[in-house]
Amino acid sequence: MNRNNQKFLKRYVLDEGLCTGCGACVGLCPYQVIYHDRTVQLHHCDLEDGKCYAFCPRTETDLAALRELLFEKDDLTPEIGAVKGYYFSQAVDPELRKIAQHGATVTALLELALAEGLIDSAIVSSRNQEFMQNGAIINDRGALRKNAGSKFTVSPTVAAFNQLVTEDKGNIGIVATPCQALALAKMKLVKEDNHKIDQLKLVVGLYCGWTLSAEKYTKLLLEKNIDLESITGMDVPAGKNILELFTNNDAKSIPFDEVRACIREACQYCMDSTAEYADVSVGSARFAGNWEDVRKWNQLIVRTEKGRELVDLAVKRGLLEVREASAESLKELKNAAAKKKKEALGNIIKKSGSVKKLLYLDSRDPVVQKDLGVEKKRKKEKGE
Ligand SMILES: Cc1cc2nc3c(=O)[nH]c(=O)nc-3n(C[C@H](O)[C@H](O)[C@H](O)COP(=O)(O)OP(=O)(O)OC[C@H]3O[C@@H](n4cnc5c(N)ncnc54)[C@H](O)[C@@H]3O)c2cc1C
Ligand code: SF4
Ligand code: SF4
Repeated sequence: MNRNNQKFLKRYVLDEGLCTGCGACVGLCPYQVIYHDRTVQLHHCDLEDGKCYAFCPRTETDLAALRELLFEKDDLTPEIGAVKGYYFSQAVDPELRKIAQHGATVTALLELALAEGLIDSAIVSSRNQEFMQNGAIINDRGALRKNAGSKFTVSPTVAAFNQLVTEDKGNIGIVATPCQALALAKMKLVKEDNHKIDQLKLVVGLYCGWTLSAEKYTKLLLEKNIDLESITGMDVPAGKNILELFTNNDAKSIPFDEVRACIREACQYCMDSTAEYADVSVGSARFAGNWEDVRKWNQLIVRTEKGRELVDLAVKRGLLEVREASAESLKELKNAAAKKKKEALGNIIKKSGSVKKLLYLDSRDPVVQKDLGVEKKRKKEKGE
């Protein structure tokens, strides 16, 4: 029996708590929608092969084929994927840095890609009045800046991408979390009819440790008497074990242990912290110094030639300041990424009950095999 359809998406992804809310299965047909931050099947579809199943980052994927398709072999690392260059970066414009999450590298790169005509539209994440997020299709700098900053609930941004490719409105750039970048990469691999993936010209990946369940998170904020509409920003400052919230009036902090209870279940099974399937990936900087200075910088991984050209152009135009990061920083990043992979793999094995059943992962994948070796050794040592 064919397993690549909507029924199996429900059985193996939605019902198993593996859905990341990325939006890749939405906007392809009238049967699946996002309600708040949940993926809902409104109606049964009897197609044998569904794009929904094929694109989903939580259905099985030939990751080795994806790496071969998108990256140069010599750039590949097991911990963080392809690396052509690793830097600390920030937008030169101080006004942009003020409204962005960290160094504004993401927004600066998208602004440049739009201005240069490398892309005709950018898809970013926009929050609505109900404190939920959606993909927003953007064509100008003002709207890009309006949507800068991180929101830690899920944004089904890839649904907006599905909508835009059917409208055939030219080249697209998108900001994507790791699971979203994987869904977009799968689209390139499977190349379905009526889904013009060739319009995708740029994927700016975000590092991602987790996203929060909108329901649990809003409940927590309301318990703390925090007016949702007053929130202007949020961050997780290095080494402080808090979630920092910026409101119209002041800054508040919530102990991270309380926030941890709001993390979406699907994130426990996520192996990717750096958006390995993007052209460039951007996260918060980590280097010694005062956090208020450090937070205005990003970590930047250049993964593809296209990513390299855009970053070089941004530097040449005086839009982005880029500093070579030390080998020690790269090592720390790799260690943190490897830790996430191992934890996720451990959670996957715990959920499936067997080292041989890895849910959406292929145990023959070399990266998974490497991590499995570690997992097997750990179990042996503990006598499990
Ligand atoms: C859910 C989440 C978890 C993250 N976890 C980590 C982490 O563990 N470690 C780390 O180093 N960095 C993490 N980041 C990335 C970090 O918060 C910044 O986005 C990154 O450093 C880029 O900063 P910037 O100033 O260049 O971004 P900006 O220039 O401010 O641009 C940010 C872009 O992200 C888009 N965006 C905002 N929220 C979302 C969302 N939920 N989904 C998709 N797109 C969104 C915005 O629309 C905007 O285009 C996370 C981001 C998100 C959204
Ligand atoms: S992970 Fe993404 S593609 Fe898969 S079911 Fe959830 S929203 Fe759909
Ligand atoms: S932790 Fe992984 S699954 Fe969760 S939102 Fe981030 S990339 Fe997606």
